[in-house]
Amino acid sequence: MSKPDAEVQPYRELSPLRLWRGGSRRQQACLFGGWLAALALCVGLGVGMVVWRWSGIPFEFGGVAIYLTVYPPLWICLLLTLALGWWWGAIPAYCATLALGLYSGMPLPWALLFGLANPLGFAVMVIGYQAISMRRDLRGLSALLFYVQQSFVASVFSSSGALIWSYTNDYDRTALLPVWQGWWLGAFLQSVLIVGPLMAMLWPRAERWLAAHPQLMRDTPARSRVSLLGLLASITLGVVVYGYATFSLAEAQLNHDALRQTMWIFYWVFVAIVLFMAFFGYQLFTHWQKSQDVLLEALQKLATTDALTGLLNRREADRRLAAEWERTRRSGHSTAMLLLDIDHFKQINDRYGHPAGDAALRQLANVMRSVMRKVDFGARYGGEEFLIVLPESGQRGAHAFAERLRQEVEEAVVRHEQLSFQMRVSIGVAIVRQDEASYERWFARADQALYRAKQGGRNRTELDRPAVEKLA
Ligand code: GH3
Ligand code: MG
Ligand code: MG
Repeated sequence: MSKPDAEVQPYRELSPLRLWRGGSRRQQACLFGGWLAALALCVGLGVGMVVWRWSGIPFEFGGVAIYLTVYPPLWICLLLTLALGWWWGAIPAYCATLALGLYSGMPLPWALLFGLANPLGFAVMVIGYQAISMRRDLRGLSALLFYVQQSFVASVFSSSGALIWSYTNDYDRTALLPVWQGWWLGAFLQSVLIVGPLMAMLWPRAERWLAAHPQLMRDTPARSRVSLLGLLASITLGVVVYGYATFSLAEAQLNHDALRQTMWIFYWVFVAIVLFMAFFGYQLFTHWQKSQDVLLEALQKLATTDALTGLLNRREADRRLAAEWERTRRSGHSTAMLLLDIDHFKQINDRYGHPAGDAALRQLANVMRSVMRKVDFGARYGGEEFLIVLPESGQRGAHAFAERLRQEVEEAVVRHEQLSFQMRVSIGVAIVRQDEASYERWFARADQALYRAKQGGRNRTELDRPAVEKLA
C-alpha cells in the first residue's frame, strides 16, 4: 500500500474568481495567459485533426484490429482538470471538440452535444478525486490503480462522442464497433500512458504551488459522503454502459442467432452482478457511515460530560461559557452565572466515606436538573464545585433561582446503602457585564461572591458586589 491517505491533500480547485480578484498581476498573467494559450492550442489541434485527416493509429492486439484514437487536446485538458480543476480542463476540451465537429461538417446541434464528451469524462475523474483524496503524482500502488480505474470509467463516458461521430458521418452499424472501441481504448491508453507519467512528473511542483496559495483555492464543502456515492454510481453506470454499447454494436456483426442470444444472456447476468456489487458496496458504505456516527456521538458525549454526575464537564462548560458570553455581548441581553460549592464536604467524606460523598454529588446534580430550564446548562466544574448558566436572566431572577435551588438541596436526603444524610451549598451569583474583557472576568466575579457566601457563614447565596450596590 502507499502512504496513509491522511497526508494527502483533498482535491481542491483553483478558483478563477479568486485568482481574478486576489491574485497578483504575475499570477494572473501566467495562469490566465497560459490557459488561454492552451485553449487556443487545443482548438488548433482539434481542427488540425480534420485538416490533416489524422485521428489515430491502427493497432492489432491478440487478433483484434482496432483503430486507436489519438487526440492530443485530451492530454492537455486532462492535465488541466487534474491539476487545477474541472472548468480549467472542460472549457478548452469543449471548445476543441466543438471546433473539430463544426470543421468536419457536423450540424451545429450535434456539434454542441459532441463537445460534451470529454467534459463528461473529466467530471467522472473529478468526482472520484473529490470522494477519495488520492495522491495525484500516482506514486504508490493504490494511487496508480485508482487513476487507472478512473481513467477507464472516464474514457467510457467520453466515448459517447464516438456514437455521435459515427451517426453524423453515416457509418453503418458494423463499422461502429471498431470506432467505439478505438475511441474508449484510445482515450484510456492516452490517459494512462501519456497523461499519467506527465502528471507524475508535474504534479509535485503544482501541488507545492497550490498549497502555498490557499487563498486562491475554492472552498470545497465537506461532501465526501455524497461524492463517494457519486463515485460508486458513476463507476457502476460506466461499466454497465460500456457493456451495453459494446454488446449492441457487436450484435450488428453477428449473424448467428444462438450466439447473439448467449451474448445477451451474458450481458444481463453481467449487469445483475455489477448491480449486486454496487448494492453491496452501498450497504457496506451506509453501514460503515452509521457506525461512524454512533462512534462519533459516543466520543462526543465522552468528551463533554462528567462521568459521575452526567452533567457537562469543565472543558465543555468553558466552551459554552465563552459562547454564551459572546452571544450575550452581541445581543445585549442579561445572563447569569451561578457557582456552587458544597459546604464542609470534607466532613461528609470523612464521616460517611468517599462512596457516600459520590452519592451526594449525584444527588446534587439531580436537584440541579430538576430546577433548571431547558435553556440553562449545568456543569461539574471541579471536585464538588458546580456551575449553572441562566441565559436571559437578570439579578432578581437569578437570585430567586439560587435561593430555590439552595433550599431544595438542603431538603433533599442523600441515601447510600444504610446511610442517609443531608447537605448544604453556598452559591455565588454574577450577571454578565458588557464592558468586561473576557468571560474569565465574569467567572472571577461569581467566584468572589461564592467566597463571600462561605465567609458569611455558608448555606447562603451572595450576589456579585456591583450588582448588590445597584440593587440597593
Ligand atoms: P467548604 O465548606 O469550605 O467548601 O469546605 P469543604 O470541606 O467542602 O472544602 P473544599 O471545598 O476544599 O472540599 C473539597 C473536598 O471535596 C476535598 C475532596 O476530598 C472532596 N472531593 C473532591 N472531589 C470529590 C469526588 O469526586 N468525590 C468525593 N467523594 N469527594 C470529592
Ligand atoms: Mg470546594
Ligand atoms: Mg466545599
